[in-house]
Amino acid sequence: MTVSVASLGFPRIGPRRELKFALEKFWAGTISQDELEEAAQGLRTATWARQKALGVDWLPSNDFSLYDHVLDTSVMLGAIPARYDLASGQAAGLETYFAMARGATGGATCGHAHGSVTAGEMTKWFDTNYHFIVPEIEPETRLQLGHIKPLQDYLEAKAQGFETRPVILGPVTWLSLAKEYGSDPFDLLEEVLALYATVLARLEEAGAEWVQIDEPILVTDLTDRQRRAFTRAYAKLGRAGPKIMLATYFGGLENNLSLAASLPVAGLHIDLARAPEQLDAVVKAVPQNRLLSLGVVDGRNVWRADLAALLDRLEPLAAQRDLVLAPSCSLLHAPVDLQLESKLDDELKQWLAFAVQKIEELDLLRRALANGRESVAAELATSARATEARKTAARIHDRAVSERIAALTHDMRERRAGHAERVKTQSEVLNLPLFPTTTIGSFPQTGAVRKARAEYNRGVLDGKSYDAFLHQETERAIRWQEEAGVDMLVHGEFERNDMVQYFGEKLAGFAFTVNGWVQSYGSRCVRPPILYGDVSRPEPMTVDWWRYAQGLTDKPVKGMLTGPVTILNWSFVRDDQPREASCRQIALAIRDEVLDLEAAGCKAIQIDEAALREGLPLRERDWPAYLDWAVDCFRLAAAGVGNQTQIHTHMCYSEFNDILPSIGAMDTDVISIETARSQMELLAGFASYRYPSAIGPGIYDIHSARVPGEDEMVALMRLAQKHLRPEQLWVNPDCGLKTRGWDEVKPAIAAMVSAARTLRAET
Ligand code: GLN
Ligand code: ZN
Repeated sequence: MTVSVASLGFPRIGPRRELKFALEKFWAGTISQDELEEAAQGLRTATWARQKALGVDWLPSNDFSLYDHVLDTSVMLGAIPARYDLASGQAAGLETYFAMARGATGGATCGHAHGSVTAGEMTKWFDTNYHFIVPEIEPETRLQLGHIKPLQDYLEAKAQGFETRPVILGPVTWLSLAKEYGSDPFDLLEEVLALYATVLARLEEAGAEWVQIDEPILVTDLTDRQRRAFTRAYAKLGRAGPKIMLATYFGGLENNLSLAASLPVAGLHIDLARAPEQLDAVVKAVPQNRLLSLGVVDGRNVWRADLAALLDRLEPLAAQRDLVLAPSCSLLHAPVDLQLESKLDDELKQWLAFAVQKIEELDLLRRALANGRESVAAELATSARATEARKTAARIHDRAVSERIAALTHDMRERRAGHAERVKTQSEVLNLPLFPTTTIGSFPQTGAVRKARAEYNRGVLDGKSYDAFLHQETERAIRWQEEAGVDMLVHGEFERNDMVQYFGEKLAGFAFTVNGWVQSYGSRCVRPPILYGDVSRPEPMTVDWWRYAQGLTDKPVKGMLTGPVTILNWSFVRDDQPREASCRQIALAIRDEVLDLEAAGCKAIQIDEAALREGLPLRERDWPAYLDWAVDCFRLAAAGVGNQTQIHTHMCYSEFNDILPSIGAMDTDVISIETARSQMELLAGFASYRYPSAIGPGIYDIHSARVPGEDEMVALMRLAQKHLRPEQLWVNPDCGLKTRGWDEVKPAIAAMVSAARTLRAET
């Protein structure tokens, strides 16, 4: 029996974000298309060489993308919306590709006939923090094969001496992710399959023996139409070209196991990090002649694997059948190389594995299975020591935290009085006009702000000068808001690099990398904090900033915090305890901050939960449990305050209908949401649910550079009044203003304030 090692995909951005920098130079016009291609090719070559050197037997190709692999697939299939104005029969070039990814301004800058054109919609890739460009199927969509990127990448690798297994996004997943504009994407199944069959045939001609087809949709709840599509698709593709390794990840197959096992493919990959319990059932269901690929190390977290425990499980199986060992999913979601972390201490570092180290672990497992554990005894001992050390490390387990968690009571989640009484008390304390105006928290992070932070981080600017700079920016923001006539002010968040990182850096239990970048979308990368231990708050995190800002004005200034669920969802989290246990600890730390803000005199505190919705599990069955603990954690963070303290939350999305009861259960006093693009339709849901609290439906779309006029804001608020009482409505933008410039923010907020005045005069 043989054991081999596969990589399902490697980070594309490069060990030092080389792709990001090349892309941004290309977009800025400082390098040519050839230079961009050259940089991309260099990264691909280095990635193949590196993985090969690390011992990967199944090297992936076509896992690289200049922007997004879903967009690559759409372009390959010719699913180009009409607004990009391609002549019929013309294949999309790089210009159209980037227009679909990012929009284009047209005219002189882009040199293309079309005018300005919007980008495709972007959304999260399953439950990861990677965003893809949503395929659009229009009634007039005529699919046709464009440039066959999988073939080109395969040949490129081959020319350099790398035999690869091309990675292709599967047809059923692609269709499932597509958005319908007047026609059901699945109506196109046969057309799509014909194109896939051609792609596979071309790959076979070129010499590819295997392909990896990714169908992560197989770990979600499937409709009958999707199931039939699977059967039909693989009946056709199973014989169309190279052998197929069907890759599933991000969860277990569960009720889709018999469907997956029935498909005529040569191999099946399963995720054993997310769903270790599925191994036995899969082994039983999948015939012996099919190659099993086991995702044994977690492709989307940063922890070192427990190799001894894995070997206990794998050894009996390896005696029975051929096995492929792989990360659970593409390593796209992991940082590249732990060796580049110069600032992590050794103790913490030994618990971690990034993409490179994960492949080393797989290689070690393979050697242990092939030649016996003795053959790699020293390496296994190191791994075992690290595992053991992490289990017992003092810095992970904080007695005070576990005692606090054990002592939680029901009361701690309950506000003192019900909604009606709080409204009364708060209106006496705050004395706000009807349609109060506010903003979501941040003000423009200008070049000057970013420069000062960078200089401070590099040690060029000393702490005192940096502080003075931030105070000056805050004061200016307060003065400007007063002048503009905003009713509830914010301090502007100039001191924050990022809404999660800022808190992570101040909480015990979090660590930060210097180079642990992960692609979020296109050239944008994030460096998620690593939540490794019990969380507590050594000292107040925001109180001084709030106090300084409030000291400058008589108008109320909101305290501004990130909520526990969002901090959790945007971090690499512990795998040694359930997510909800980590979340509850964060909630207690935020609760401490809330109470300190209140004690300092703060009358309104906003706790942002930008990522609450995106944490929803892939299977609907698991939604209630998640929502239960997520709401519970929010309440734990928020509910300690008195009736007079107004609790706000902010959520940057517009899909609420399916989670409205949970939003209500958060029991906030004010919620601000994203509505600018949806004509207030979603307020109907809040109204029918009789949502009792106040709502600020965002009336300034901050994601666009456009400055809206007063009239359109008034019109939006009038629409809002069709659903909600005037006393329930706040007037605000739909998210923070940090990505905008002051030249946009000033006129937009001025118009917003006059809109509120117009509305007041009408009522
Ligand atoms: N308070 C944060 C800000 O204004 C909220 C950002 C967000 O929800 N994404 O930037
Ligand atoms: Zn937001």
